[in-house]
Amino acid sequence: MKPSFPDYRLRCGWNALLSRREPAPALSTDIDSDVAIIGAGYTGIAIAKRWQTHYPDQSVALIDSSEIGEGNPGRNSGFLLETALAEDADAANLDRMRRSNAMIAATLQDILQDIEDSGASVDIARAGTYRAAASDIGARSIARYEAFLQASELPYEKLTKSDLQQRIGSSYFQEGLYSPHCYLAQPAQLIRALFAALPDTVSCFENTPALSIENRSSRWLVTTPKGNIQCDTLFLANNAFAKSLGIGQSQLVAMYTYAGLTPALPESLHSQLGSDSNWGLLPTHRLGSTLRRTVDQRLLIRSFHDYEHEASSSHVRDSLTRRMHARFPQLKGISLESVWGGAVGFTYNGGLVWGEEKPGLFVSAGCNGGGTVKGTLLGRLLADLAVGADVPDVTDLFGKASWMPPEPIRALGFHITSQLEQWAGRAEM
Ligand SMILES: Cc1cc2nc3c(=O)[nH]c(=O)nc-3n(C[C@H](O)[C@H](O)[C@H](O)COP(=O)(O)OP(=O)(O)OC[C@H]3O[C@@H](n4cnc5c(N)ncnc54)[C@H](O)[C@@H]3O)c2cc1C
Repeated sequence: MKPSFPDYRLRCGWNALLSRREPAPALSTDIDSDVAIIGAGYTGIAIAKRWQTHYPDQSVALIDSSEIGEGNPGRNSGFLLETALAEDADAANLDRMRRSNAMIAATLQDILQDIEDSGASVDIARAGTYRAAASDIGARSIARYEAFLQASELPYEKLTKSDLQQRIGSSYFQEGLYSPHCYLAQPAQLIRALFAALPDTVSCFENTPALSIENRSSRWLVTTPKGNIQCDTLFLANNAFAKSLGIGQSQLVAMYTYAGLTPALPESLHSQLGSDSNWGLLPTHRLGSTLRRTVDQRLLIRSFHDYEHEASSSHVRDSLTRRMHARFPQLKGISLESVWGGAVGFTYNGGLVWGEEKPGLFVSAGCNGGGTVKGTLLGRLLADLAVGADVPDVTDLFGKASWMPPEPIRALGFHITSQLEQWAGRAEM
């Protein structure tokens, strides 16, 4: 049987760059709480914070199977987008996009405020983002995204192959776009800071996986290895792993994707890496590769996916290194200092598993690879929904996850679709 929580083989490279922190103790006894939240990621932290603004005197227990910074929320590429992802960029849908983008932009400002309140130092800057195409399939995606930006009256710059080479030091791409609507952060620092900014009234337990949930006499019981939690209201904010607790099983899959960081590059190489010293580049293909150059002069590559399992360390290292060297041949002598994987809560149509699933049981899952800012927003709105406050129509704004067939048809469908997509868009991989 699959575990009900992520248990990664490889350490998170971002977290390995930070000094060690003392985790909150694991739950070691039975407790009673008004509210329990499973998952201390962007979504879970936002739920806890919002609940406390509604009911400052109620008890809130927040548990996570991992340690803050080491788990999934610290494993991402650190893009905090102020607008929706390219796949969502549909010029015919502008009103919906404007409303969701306005909420996402406001949420990002709140995240910046939370970082400031935490007093922690976080590498975060409004560096913007490139999108670049290495093939005609990528160029068509850029054209669609440009149509969206134009229709939304959002600023952007169009870039030729030589512009890109001059700015990011890679001649791999044919053409691209730069848009300023994105912050780049060190994600392990970021999640540590957001966690640190939680009010003291939230009781946090790290290294505490929820093994099962059960409804008992109109309350909820969460079982963990060394203690159980009884609560009136239970939130699942554990993304793809909600389905391991019996929720969203016909809508969610755990898609693993991988990232690697080089060591800080020697100064002798900086001049070969373009004029921009802190940048991020998102793929034009949904299975394509993300790139970053960080403030401390490392390159990051995030690429390829696996269905419901984490690939072997050697395969992750070899594949990421090959893809990085294809884009930056000048780094041929440099290997990756760290590589790691992370699970993305994926839904077939990109919609969400969001709302009250059963009386007193609320869930927000299905980030589809872009859930740092969106997760924060959706967590906050879920807490509002649970207390009966007015909330916008989340399904209308962000979609509802569609049904997927059961295994083994689901896995077969994924493998066939991804093989076909990867072959057609191979230059973007
Ligand atoms: C390599 C990679 C790169 C990415 N890059 C980006 C990016 O640049 N920008 C972006 O917006 N998104 C990115 N994503 C996606 C992003 O990480 C997620 O969208 C985001 O973390 C979702 O936040 P969340 O709080 O909803 O869920 P998560 O971050 O997945 O947090 C869920 C938490 O629940 C915990 N948990 C799971 N099961 C249990 C259990 N049974 N009991 C207790 N705790 C449990 C986990 O340990 C985790 O801490 C990337 C993902 C990966 C893997």
